[in-house]
Formats: sequence, structure tokens, C-alpha cells
Amino acid sequence: MNNQVIYRQINKDYAYWIEKRRLGQSKGGQVAGLLSHQVEGQVKQNILFDAGLGTIEGLADSCADSFWDEPLLIFITHGHVDHHAELMILSEIYCQRRGRDFRDVRSPLPVFCTGETQQHLFNTHRYGYTAGKTLHHRPLTPETPVQIGIFRITPIPVDHFEGAVIYLIEFELKRRHKIIIGWDTTTLPLQQIEHLCQPSLALLETTTWSSLAQEIGHSGVEDLITTGFLAQLQVQFQPEQERYGAYLVHYSGWEDPWGMLTDAQLKDKFDETFPEFAPVVRVAERGQCWSFT
Ligand SMILES: [Zn+2]
Ligand SMILES: [Zn+2]
Repeated sequence: MNNQVIYRQINKDYAYWIEKRRLGQSKGGQVAGLLSHQVEGQVKQNILFDAGLGTIEGLADSCADSFWDEPLLIFITHGHVDHHAELMILSEIYCQRRGRDFRDVRSPLPVFCTGETQQHLFNTHRYGYTAGKTLHHRPLTPETPVQIGIFRITPIPVDHFEGAVIYLIEFELKRRHKIIIGWDTTTLPLQQIEHLCQPSLALLETTTWSSLAQEIGHSGVEDLITTGFLAQLQVQFQPEQERYGAYLVHYSGWEDPWGMLTDAQLKDKFDETFPEFAPVVRVAERGQCWSFT
């Protein structure tokens, strides 16, 4: 049986992706990822992580139109608007878009998040939860896993914002896998390292290069190294073993004294400064995907 999981980084930028056009980046959007379990080429479950600006365009660029007819759930990390701006538009398209039969409209999209996050979502997307009825909150408790098909998804609390979590996804096919949806973080979750360590793939926030978390509330590249988090995470890059290492997302660079770097410059600077981690850390590309069996 052809049983596989694909994770795709739909978009990988922070709120300032618009400025990246000055650096020659023609398309972008705020961090969002799509996890997909497929059997014999048929999608059993899609799970979207976050739904900020550019998510719908990213899905349209990366996925076939059949995406809109496949089973979908949404997990939101936290209430900052760059992580859910397009939530209601997306649910309206998903639920109201007619299938072959014009009566073919769908029930509300389940949205998994903490109670605090839900308050922000409700205030922003009230119509979807009430009159539009295209959204349905499914409460999450930090550190309490939920099972969605083959996926065990654990919300890991972080101090980035009220109710904020990152997600640990675990599943077993021929191999056992862990994927870390590691955005946004202020203090890196070192106390959870034994759950997070040795992932198949880790998407990690680095909004800046410099350590500015006290000022801006976001982890930088330096924090990954100086706290020991990256070393203790024990990422490996062995694609033939489906160990894909760590990928940086949510990079802005706007706040660094020297300003924004291109993704290529960021990788070069990383490799020069931290050569011991160069083999296992890369910058995520928009639309990039990884497969797991
Ligand atoms: Zn945030
Ligand atoms: Zn953010």
C-alpha cells in the first residue's frame, strides 16, 4: 500500500514579506504549512497550520484544485494576525464553494487552538463562527495531545503571546517520525527538549539574526545557538533516511542593524558563522515539500 505523508511549507515569511520584493523575491506570504496523509494517491486528511496573508494564493500555487474537495482541518499557533488573517475567507471558500452538485456545501471547518487564541480568532472572524457558520472551534489544552487519523499532535506552550503554542506532530508509517511546527517563539522551549529531540523535520522561527527576543518577542538565529537549543535538538540531515534537518522560517531581518538579507545571504552567513551546524540547517523555500513513509 502506498501510504505516505507530505508536509509542504505553503509560505515562510514574516509580516514584512512585502519588503522582500526589493530583494528580488516576487512571491511570498506569512508562515503556513500543510500536512497531508495520502494513501494510494488519495488524500485521507489535510491539516493546515496557520492561515496568514498569502495562504490562499500559496495553496492555489502548490495544490491541485482537488484540495478544496479534500478533508481539511486547521490548527492555529497563536492569535497574532499574521497567523490567521485569511482564516475566514479560506473557510468561506472551502465550505461554500459548490461541488458538482450545487447542494454540495460543507460543514464548518474545525479550527483547533487554545481558548486564548480562540478569543482573538472570534473577534477577527466572528461572522465565520456565527452567521457564516463556516468555522467551528475545537479547544486545545497545552501539553495534551490530540489524535487526528495517524497524527498525534501535541500543543507545546510557549511564552510568545497569550495562549501561544508550537506543535509537535508524531506519526508512524514504515518509520517513526516527528515534525516540529516551531513558530513563533520568544523563549525557546528547552524544557520540552526531550519530546522535541531527533525530529525528522523541524521548522524553526528566526525572525532576526541578532538576539533581540527581549525587545521584539521573537527568536533570532543567535538564540538557536547560544541557548544550546539547536545542539540539544539533535537534528540530522540524511534525506535518504527521511531525516531532513532544520529549516528556518518567519525570517524578516528588518530589525537587524544591517537590515534584511536574502535567503541565500542568510544561509551563507549561517554557514560561515556556525560551520558545525551548516550541514543540518537551511532556509525554507516557499512551496517546498518533504515526504515521509
Ligand atoms: Zn506571533
Ligand atoms: Zn508571526
